[in-house]
Amino acid sequence: MQDELRTIEEQALKEITGAASSQQLEEIRLKYFGKKGVVTQYSRTLGTLSPEERPLAGKLINNLRGRLEEALENRQQELESLEAAAKFERERLDVELPGRRPRRGHPHPLQLIIDEITMTFLGMGFSVAEGPEVELDFYNFEALNIPPEHPAREMHDSLYITDNMLLRTHTSPVQVRTMEKLYPNPVRIIVPGRVYRRDALDATHSPIFHQIEGLLVDKGVTFGDLKGVLTVFVRKFFGEDRQVRLRPSFFPFTEPSAEVDVSCVCRGEGCRICKNTGWIEILGAGSVHPKVLAMAKYDPEIYSGFAFGMGVERIAMLRYGISDIRQFYENDFRLLSQFH
Ligand SMILES: [Zn+2]
Repeated sequence: MQDELRTIEEQALKEITGAASSQQLEEIRLKYFGKKGVVTQYSRTLGTLSPEERPLAGKLINNLRGRLEEALENRQQELESLEAAAKFERERLDVELPGRRPRRGHPHPLQLIIDEITMTFLGMGFSVAEGPEVELDFYNFEALNIPPEHPAREMHDSLYITDNMLLRTHTSPVQVRTMEKLYPNPVRIIVPGRVYRRDALDATHSPIFHQIEGLLVDKGVTFGDLKGVLTVFVRKFFGEDRQVRLRPSFFPFTEPSAEVDVSCVCRGEGCRICKNTGWIEILGAGSVHPKVLAMAKYDPEIYSGFAFGMGVERIAMLRYGISDIRQFYENDFRLLSQFH
């Protein structure tokens, strides 16, 4: 029996030392100490021995058990530290690996245009004014000399929310709101903002777009002041060599009214951008209608002023050579990342 136990011990120690993983070691533990394990079986045979033989056999088996358990425990610790080292190696961070740069944001091209135009007018002493996008019919139409039956109301196919509330069709209501606030002080504001029309989205129309308009009201303001301010703006924004041309037009809230053209980059030779006319229409303008001044309590006998307005998308399309307005709203990074 002693020999048998020695053989078992040698075999078991060989297996324990050779175990390559905790799992394998556990299988070896079961093989020897499990319910049907080799050593367990031996312990059970003790009962069949004579009382004289039993103590020695019991001692031998216990010693064997002690040595094997110690070997198992030692190997277990070795394997655990090996496995921890392997896991650490697998999960090690390579701090010298080049990083991925986060994508940097920048202003939308429409915002760039709004900022540039705004800055130009701030430099001429204008300040920025803003107003609600959900607007009362009164401010959007009536106070701007567009009474309920006026044909201009059909010009702007509007998006009504209630009978007397709508999404503003232009930034002009801010003119009236600001005049009400500032009366009787002079007014010199630039109004950038989002406006809404009941238009289907196509290459040149969008139901939501942006306008910038300006208003100057004071004593003794003339149409010549309007042309002067616009010329300064056009030369700053489009280039020092550009010319400004005013053509008679009609708007209910200005009298007289004008369409304002800027001379084309082709210097009048004619090109695709100006459709061979040498001029590009960029904005509408005029002297503030006496009725609009009166609505905001400014006495038209004492005060006068001018207003102008332009579509931001149109200016941006000219500046960036974009032919489809929808490109501004699709948020395609390939397009947006070209403008800084
Ligand atoms: Zn041209």
